[in-house]
Amino acid sequence: MIDRENAILLEFKDLFGSSEGVGMAQAPGRVNIIGEHTDYNEGLVLPIAIARNTIAAFRANDSRTVTVRSMTLEETGSFSLDDEAMPGEPSWLVYAAGVARALQDAEVPVVGCDLVVDSTVPLGGGLSSSAAFEVAVGLALTAAAGREIDRKDLMWACHRAESEYVGMRCGIMDQYVALFAEEGKAVLLDCRTADHKLVPCPTDMVKFVVCDTAVRHELANSEYNRRREECEQGVEQAARILRAKPVRALRDLDPGDLSELQQELDPVIFRRVRHVVTENARVKEAVNALRDRNYVSMGVLMDASHDSLRDDYGVSSPELDTMVELAWSQRGVYGSRMTGGGFGGCTITLIDSGRVDEFCKNMALGYQERTGETPSIYVCSPEDGARIVHPMPD
Ligand code: ADP
Ligand code: MG
Repeated sequence: MIDRENAILLEFKDLFGSSEGVGMAQAPGRVNIIGEHTDYNEGLVLPIAIARNTIAAFRANDSRTVTVRSMTLEETGSFSLDDEAMPGEPSWLVYAAGVARALQDAEVPVVGCDLVVDSTVPLGGGLSSSAAFEVAVGLALTAAAGREIDRKDLMWACHRAESEYVGMRCGIMDQYVALFAEEGKAVLLDCRTADHKLVPCPTDMVKFVVCDTAVRHELANSEYNRRREECEQGVEQAARILRAKPVRALRDLDPGDLSELQQELDPVIFRRVRHVVTENARVKEAVNALRDRNYVSMGVLMDASHDSLRDDYGVSSPELDTMVELAWSQRGVYGSRMTGGGFGGCTITLIDSGRVDEFCKNMALGYQERTGETPSIYVCSPEDGARIVHPMPD
């Protein structure tokens, strides 16, 4: 960690003349244990923050310009705080400019500053490097202005940056967990109320292991937006069918409503609805399973989540299925599922701590044999959310 921080400071000095008076903000990546595609349906999700994170070193520069160096991508870009338009190049700069703009929209004062950003969250790997980047930059921008910002306000600003200014219609999970996570706890987030409860997430007997398929399918974004539209249609149709029940979002449906809906809903829409409704119910059960340390039951829920995402929601991929099936055949595994939006990305597996080494070896070998790709594998424990790691000295 110290080596990494020194490397960041060295980069800062190279680029901006000195590293005096530099502060550092840090925000973690995340993995979702269960509750997939429930967030934008105003439902429940259960993510943890992981030990991979993004650090933004910052210093105010007495101007209206924000300059950002991405050590990760080895590119630098600048934008003016007075420019309404989003910068075009480098392409990732809009994530930072979007946060600055969203903060200003919320009347949070922002000042010009220099930033050096470094990340150990893989970019585009489904572990939410984007939210880690936004939150680290958001904390840095507000700290550079000498302000402390309410965490929820920052969450909304970062969410707005991504959904409005980057143009990715995401739910609030990623930004939320990056800000509110705690070590040893999973974050049960209610995406309707934007409130959370912390759920003890034991890491002595069992571990969560994330396996990255190393595959990203092009259709991920278009299919994501299509699923959102299908869910909206599901809400409209369900509200018409279940007249007595107010249905504002799929979150308002219970598993008990499904048989009535099945008769009348378009079959594809019905399967989408069934996934969201059953997944939401699984999150509630998973919270109890975790609290009771009932890993068998937790594993069954994770497996059922995968089946539902593959068959009803249609967002798995051959590589994700291969990875999950491989995990299911390993000793000590309680359950395994795809995690994240789908069409590539990662799986998450709950496994006996004593079997982790053997599991990682077998997964790497087995997946390579089947696909020719080398998977990245991360053993995860729930970590703390974002924080200022070094305040800017006075
Ligand atoms: P994920 O959030 O799953 O990693 P996304 O596609 O949502 O994937 O976000 C990845 C994008 O976020 C990158 O392509 C880049 O534009 C931006 N990004 C994230 N971290 C960094 C970073 N350290 N430096 C520059 N851009 C970053
Ligand atoms: Mg993202």
